[in-house]
Amino acid sequence: MVGKASNKEQEYFIAQEVARLKELRLAHFKKSEAEERRKMRELHYMRCAKCGQKMETTTLATVEIDICPDCGGVYLDAGELGKIVDEKSRGPFSTALGIARRLWKA
Ligand SMILES: [Zn+2]
Repeated sequence: MVGKASNKEQEYFIAQEVARLKELRLAHFKKSEAEERRKMRELHYMRCAKCGQKMETTTLATVEIDICPDCGGVYLDAGELGKIVDEKSRGPFSTALGIARRLWKA
């Protein structure tokens, strides 16, 4: 029997459609966000955070660090400061580096 849908049926289908549109919108937002992060990573990879110049890699102790040839900014990857401090702990700067390390972890 075909008849006019009741208000409850209409509400049900409207609610279903709203939920489907919300899911589509969320999926689109997540995809856009991931794409934006990929673009930003590609655009900023190995670029100085302060002046945007291309970073150069050099070795400090046995750790490779990134230095900006334009402004002198230094970028350390995760764990590199600890490695440098560990290697320098036998030298004359051990006290200052030890303090810096403790502050870094605090
Ligand atoms: Zn720079």
